[in-house]
Amino acid sequence: MNLQINLGQLAQAVNGKLIKGKPETPFNSFATDTRSLKAGAFFWALKGASHDAHDLLAKTLPLGVSGWLVRENALAGLRDLPASVVAVEDTLKALQALAAWHRQRFAIPLTAITGSNGKSTTKEMLMSIFSAGGETCCNPGNLNNQFGLPLSLLELTAEHKFGVFELGASRRGDIREIAGVARPTCGVITNIGPSHLEHFGEMETIFETKTEIADCLAPGGVLVYNYDDRYLSRLNGRKLNKLTFGRDPEADVRILEGRHLKLEYDGVLMEIDLPHAGGHNYYNAAAAAAAAIAAGLDFAAIRKGLENYTPPPMRLQELHIGGATVILDAYNANPQSMASALKEMGDKPRPLYLMLGDMKELGKHSAHYHTDLGAALAHMGAEKVFLAGPEMKAAAAAYCRAGGSSMEFGETLEDWLPEARSLISAGKGSFLIKASRSMKFERIIEGLNP
Ligand code: ADP
Repeated sequence: MNLQINLGQLAQAVNGKLIKGKPETPFNSFATDTRSLKAGAFFWALKGASHDAHDLLAKTLPLGVSGWLVRENALAGLRDLPASVVAVEDTLKALQALAAWHRQRFAIPLTAITGSNGKSTTKEMLMSIFSAGGETCCNPGNLNNQFGLPLSLLELTAEHKFGVFELGASRRGDIREIAGVARPTCGVITNIGPSHLEHFGEMETIFETKTEIADCLAPGGVLVYNYDDRYLSRLNGRKLNKLTFGRDPEADVRILEGRHLKLEYDGVLMEIDLPHAGGHNYYNAAAAAAAAIAAGLDFAAIRKGLENYTPPPMRLQELHIGGATVILDAYNANPQSMASALKEMGDKPRPLYLMLGDMKELGKHSAHYHTDLGAALAHMGAEKVFLAGPEMKAAAAAYCRAGGSSMEFGETLEDWLPEARSLISAGKGSFLIKASRSMKFERIIEGLNP
């Protein structure tokens, strides 16, 4: 972070008061965690779900803190201490205000990506396309929420020619809040699916939340969305500056069938040798291509970027362990990405083994989705299905009811881990490994050498 402003400008940007300190004092960066606070640094006190950093202010003095940004009602005692103080009503809102102010300093193509699945993959693909054209700023890891997105935007500098940021959401209003800070020149919605359904409650709320991005575009901004998605197709009638992608002949960036990914836009055909197969990666690539078109890039740049991108790990990652083909998709799972991963196994070598764990955060809809999954698994022609986790109990029961005859269920992964590992080590057939993040299903292949 290198903001190159001073305390006076900071106070103004966040609508706060400079309580103590000289307005002309330089302000370039800050820490929000006492553990990463270096001598001479400024501390921004945030209140999280379990901790309030205002309780830690005294601890920062011996660390050599130069100043604090704090809540107005937490000022007691600070005036007499040897550090500057800026006070605001709400320190998270102030962080967002500073990020919004900072973002407006740069007139660059800035893409923001939301959707239920494929945000990170699409972001990485677009990163790869943009990076060939100039320095690109993006959110590190998954710093994509109300706090992470502003911090990511504050990394923008004059060196950057492009920005690409993913936006996470778990409640109505989340996207409006952070997309309003990012003010993207292009907003991408990958798809609408039952991810974080526990927080959203209903699919309709997921649709409404993701589409909030349409109201937050920079003037003249473009909305990119999946034309094939049955929820998003409702946007077709809306008066918007839009660019769609999908297999439908009406989509602007069209995915054509074939051994390689083929995209068609404006009558021009582009064949791309995507390093990461998987039907849904075709959608992610088409989304990235559409966003790149919106940013003014040409086909050569798009092809080069997509062919050079490095797939993030654990998303449909194909590994060869001995003679076994392992599809490691253990990064996360929800009904949409599960269906998509199962479809991928269709043309993989037989025998087929499915090692699946809980799809979390489905709330009251969990039993319904796990039951549907179990019934579908009975007809996949798998040699054996391994299921683990409390939510998968419903899937195991439905599998048996649907006539499935080769299944192992465990309350935890450990119940069948040794059998799974020895089957993979035997080196025959294909294995799908997929579960929600908290199940840590990558443990199945730990120590098994590709
Ligand atoms: P996100 O950032 O939205 O969580 P990721 O790109 O990290 O998405 O992928 C997370 C999971 O979703 C992986 O299991 C991946 O295989 C799956 N996935 C990725 N893109 C799509 C898509 N377009 N449709 C369905 N599933 C997808």
